[in-house]
Amino acid sequence: MSLVGVRTLENLIGGDLLPPAGGDYLECLNPATGELLARVPESGAEDLERAVAAAQKAAPEWKALGPEGRGKLLHALADLLDDNQDEFVEAEVDDNGMTRRFAAGMEVPRGAANLRSFAQAAHDFCGRRPFEAPHARGYVLHQSVDVVGTISPWNLPLLSLTWKIAPALAAGSCVVAKPSEVTPLTAYLLSALLEEAGWPPGVLNIVHGSGAGIGSLLCEHPAVERISFTGSTATGKLIGEACARNFKRPPMLEMGGKNPTIVFADADFDKAVEGVAKAAFANQGQVCLCGSRIYIEESLYERFRDALVERANGLKIGDPQDLKTAHGASISSEHLKKIESYVALAKEEGGTILCGGERAQLAGRCDGGSFYKPTLVEGLPVTARTNQEEIFGPVATVAPFRSESQAVEWANNSCYGLSASIWSEDLDKATRVADALETGMPWINCWNLRVLETPFGGFKNSGNGHREGVPDAMEFFTEKKTVIMPVS
Ligand code: NAD
Repeated sequence: MSLVGVRTLENLIGGDLLPPAGGDYLECLNPATGELLARVPESGAEDLERAVAAAQKAAPEWKALGPEGRGKLLHALADLLDDNQDEFVEAEVDDNGMTRRFAAGMEVPRGAANLRSFAQAAHDFCGRRPFEAPHARGYVLHQSVDVVGTISPWNLPLLSLTWKIAPALAAGSCVVAKPSEVTPLTAYLLSALLEEAGWPPGVLNIVHGSGAGIGSLLCEHPAVERISFTGSTATGKLIGEACARNFKRPPMLEMGGKNPTIVFADADFDKAVEGVAKAAFANQGQVCLCGSRIYIEESLYERFRDALVERANGLKIGDPQDLKTAHGASISSEHLKKIESYVALAKEEGGTILCGGERAQLAGRCDGGSFYKPTLVEGLPVTARTNQEEIFGPVATVAPFRSESQAVEWANNSCYGLSASIWSEDLDKATRVADALETGMPWINCWNLRVLETPFGGFKNSGNGHREGVPDAMEFFTEKKTVIMPVS
């Protein structure tokens, strides 16, 4: 299916692509051009009722397929995603403003990888686990719940959507997914592949619309037994409250971050400069794992800071569809204003702008787009708001630290605890620091190197204790049942 000429998106409900019952639409703009890209259904209660009913109807057949049957269908969808990769890449770049390099190298291939990883895991996870004691024997079963809801953000649209739906589907639940209303295109493209992949109708339903509208209704719906959410901490709090109000299990909340980067004097200099810049500016700083507080050991500080500034200034800003572009568009003109307000705050707080600190004005096709230059700020205390609040843009701070214990103390001085990266050739020291950090995912001499079969999630206000990844995320969509009989 091509998006060319298809500017009005539809919901996927019970295998059919349908307009919203109320006839309302939101506008979705291309952040790199400012032009209208699509009209997105602003779904309401009627659409949700239909989607939940379709999921309930599909649940017995989906469970009966067993892990092998479900795994085959997840693989079939992943294969179709690969076959249609170019179209997905193009749509993701237009929708999000991410560079073609980033979409083709990471975002879209991860969509297929997510589906495959959980397809593989379904088999091991869903069986009976036998046990035997002197007086009794039996088995433990993970039994999937029927209908679950997923809510995903705009920053990595296809990656986050598939990362949430794949474990639910693999475990045996049917899904009502709500993608971000800001970046709905790849979810819409995925809707159109399910029939070709041989999926029964109603197993995966996709309803589009705003968070305050359909997102909130989904969390309140009594037949939706689990909510898996990725997004900001403020929204996570609202979703946690809605689930508690409705006696749902605590939702899976994957939320914001303000991640530290620690560079020791014994780091491999060139690798560290490259890795730290990538951590700060990947996807224009719009990855929850981005390292936006960079602490550099005192003796290396000036040399490293200057190399980082040179690197930031060297990132080619341009049309995200151009393969040569390294730094694409920020998500929207409103988000650009938020970034600007934080740079103004950094100055008020006494910070010095080392590079960037302003919009980038492009010519031609992208002259109406939202571009912000990679920005580094120095001279701010750890407690400054610029160092405490998530900006979610291409803005990072740098500061020199005196000792290992000071670096750890500064890194941990945050209400967030998602990820970190540590750069040192002394692995004893690096692992000691990793162990001391209050974050879910500290990396050593790398950033965002992922193994999907490991727990993913954050400490403190970045999460609420659940973990994503294989197999942790599957457990969330199940109830454990222990069947016991006496030993005769
Ligand atoms: P957001 O919280 O504004 O929106 C996320 C999703 O929640 C969207 O689909 C939105 O429509 C929906 N939503 C909003 N209000 C809602 C409500 N009241 N009820 C139900 N749903 C509602 O976040 P965003 O701006 O789309 O994404 C950026 C944020 O996501 C950043 O804070 C980033 O750190 C975080 N994030 C976290 C991770 C992680 O794994 N921890 C990954 C990616 C992004």
